Amino acid sequence: MDLLFNKKTKVLVLGAGGFIGTNLIKRLKPMNCHITGVDLKYPDFSEHIADEYFINDLRNSTEVDLIFNKTYDYIFQLAADMGGAGYVFSGKNDADLMYNSSMINLNILNAVVKKEFKGVLFYASSACIYPEHNQTDSENTNCEESSAYPANPDSEYGWEKLYAERLYTSFKRNYNISIRIARFHNIFGPEGIFEGGKEKAPAAICRKVIKAKEGETIEIWGDGMQTRSFLYIDDCIDALLKLIKSPVEYPINIGSEEMISINDLAKMVIGISGKKLHIKNIEGFQGVRSRSSDNRMIEKLLHWQPTNNLEVGMKTTYDWIQKKIDLN
Ligand code: NAD
Repeated sequence: MDLLFNKKTKVLVLGAGGFIGTNLIKRLKPMNCHITGVDLKYPDFSEHIADEYFINDLRNSTEVDLIFNKTYDYIFQLAADMGGAGYVFSGKNDADLMYNSSMINLNILNAVVKKEFKGVLFYASSACIYPEHNQTDSENTNCEESSAYPANPDSEYGWEKLYAERLYTSFKRNYNISIRIARFHNIFGPEGIFEGGKEKAPAAICRKVIKAKEGETIEIWGDGMQTRSFLYIDDCIDALLKLIKSPVEYPINIGSEEMISINDLAKMVIGISGKKLHIKNIEGFQGVRSRSSDNRMIEKLLHWQPTNNLEVGMKTTYDWIQKKIDLN
């Protein structure tokens, strides 16, 4: 991809210590733009490479105002309270999920208006905004952008994301802020957490397979017939950079259309490992029955489609997690 930014370009990455933020900064670095990263923490697995990096709590408006003492050309708003199915669907984290992410977004938009921000503000939404009733059949699922309404997300995480989409869109309408919004669909790859309770299915399955000994059994939540699509991180960053440079100011899917059942994903990872393992389906949080990206809009408007197939991305992710586990 062309170098989209130059050394005069000032980029702010919020959520810079997270999975997508870390990968985004790696991609931006060779473009020589000036990168400011902000997060509650440093990246989990590598040294940060931003030009400046601040540990700040974006729920705190005073801390957010400090970050906005400078001007930026592009802001990537990736900071959110989030996690995999175990974190989002247990119900135990609903208040935190809604409160934390809402506060972050309200503070950012308030600061952007106060500072008369003239650049482009990206907000990371999610496929979790799509209505549950369109995702009940494991063969057929509807995640066309226009199907978001009438709304019926299956988690508070999804409701908060939908509210935030509307919040950013309202600020665009009333304060003339230039926004971009992507609905990410299950992004995976290196730098993503793979243990601790907030990890997602691809990383969790890799960890279980890596830790299992020849002939052992790995546990998979649900009956394993629930289906999803997964997008490799490099493709996600390509699409994100295309979007931020485009004039598209309404929510758009960034995902893969390669649907797979969770049991088949587990079989794929077992194949990658070369081990002989068994799968046992156990009770656990699964989310909707099926979900896959609908890429018609992004193909038409941004001429983008994923280039890494699932197995290639899973092999790279598996090898990366294996190395991290070996180091411990
Ligand atoms: P992540 O959890 O790895 O990164 C989010 C980062 O935000 C974390 O580093 C976290 O410390 C930071 N953060 C949370 N609260 C904060 C606060 N109060 N102040 C400062 N920083 C704070 O998640 P990710 O996978 O990198 O996702 C990035 C964004 O994309 C999130 O908004 C997420 O909801 C969205 N998204 C991701 C996926 C996916 O599959 N990864 C799918 C849909 C949407």
